[in-house]
Amino acid sequence: VIAVLDREAPASVRAAVVQAIEAAGCAAVVSEADGECRVAAFGEGAAALAPLVSTLPGVREVRPAVPLAAREQHPEGTRVRFGDVEIGGPVVPIIAGPCSVEDREQILAVARAVRGAGASALRGGAYKPRTSPYAFQGLGEAGLELLAEARAATGLPVVTEVLAPEDVARVAATADMLQIGARNMQNFALLRAAGEQAKPVLLKRGLAATLDELLDAAEYILAAGNPNVVLCERGVRTFGQHARNTFDVAAIPALKLRTHLPVIADPSHAAGRRDLVPALARAALAAGADALLIEVHPAPERARSDGPQSLTPAAFAALMVELARVAAAVGKRLA
Ligand code: PEP
Ligand code: MN
Repeated sequence: VIAVLDREAPASVRAAVVQAIEAAGCAAVVSEADGECRVAAFGEGAAALAPLVSTLPGVREVRPAVPLAAREQHPEGTRVRFGDVEIGGPVVPIIAGPCSVEDREQILAVARAVRGAGASALRGGAYKPRTSPYAFQGLGEAGLELLAEARAATGLPVVTEVLAPEDVARVAATADMLQIGARNMQNFALLRAAGEQAKPVLLKRGLAATLDELLDAAEYILAAGNPNVVLCERGVRTFGQHARNTFDVAAIPALKLRTHLPVIADPSHAAGRRDLVPALARAALAAGADALLIEVHPAPERARSDGPQSLTPAAFAALMVELARVAAAVGKRLA
C-alpha cells in the first residue's frame, strides 16, 4: 500500500508512518511527487496494512502500492541524463567503445574515432567480469584514470562497469554512468550500493533472466533512492549456436509497456560476432531502443576481450549512417 500524507505533514508524522510499516515487518519507501509525500509499504503482508495505516495521524489516503519501476508511476516515461546525454527522449544516443580499457593509446584512439562517427558517450571496462579467472581482468583503477583522460580529450561522458559493492564509490568518482553487468544483475548487495549513490545506473539483463527478474533488480536500485536506472537487453542464453546469445528484440517493447525506465540494447554481446552486429543494432533501434551500446576496437584482432564482436572504427562509422536512417524512419534521430 501507499500512504499519502497531508502536504504539510511534519517529519515526525512521516517517521511514525515509516515506523508502523517497519514494525509490521515490511519495507517503507518515502518519496515526494506531485506535491504529495508518499510512504509506500512493500513486502510480505504489505497489502494487509491498509486498515492500520489509514488510521495513522496525517494519512490522507491509502492506495494500492505500485512498484517504483512500473509504467504507471511515470506514464510519460523517465529520461535519464548523464553528462550532456539524455536517454529516453526523441534523440537516441549511441554509446560506443571497447569491451576493456587496455592502454592509453587504445582508449584515446577509440574515443576519438567513435566521437568522430557521432557517438554520444564512451563505454569501456576497467573492472571486467570474466568467465575464466585466467582471462584479462581489466586495468582496475588505472583503467578509470585512462577513461577520465579520454573524457577530457573528447568531451564524451563515460559508462563503465562496477563489479563489487566496495568498488562503487571509486568507480562512481570517475564514471558518468555505472554499468551493472549481466552476471551481476542479481547481486543484491551491489544493486543496493548502486542505489545509494547518485550516478545513473545502466542495468543489464542477466544471462537467463526473465523481464520480471530484471524489473525486480531495477526495483532494488530505485528503492535504495536512485531514480536514474536504464535497462539493457543484451541477449539471453538459448539453444541457438549461431550467435553468442539470442537477441530478445521483443523484450524492448515488452519492457517499455511495463516500465517508465529507458530501455536500451547491446547488439554486440547479443551477437558475439561482428558480422551480425549491424543487423541487430538496426533491429533494436526500430523496435524502440532508447540508446545502443556498441563495442568498437581500433584493432579487434588484438583486443584483450570480446575482439570477435568488436567493430572496427570504419565499420562503426558505416553503421552510424544506417542507424541515422532507421532512427528517422521511427520518428527519432541520432544525437
Ligand atoms: C560488457 O559490457 O563488456 C559486458 C561484460 O557485458 P555483459 O554484462 O552484458 O556480458
Ligand atoms: Mn564485452
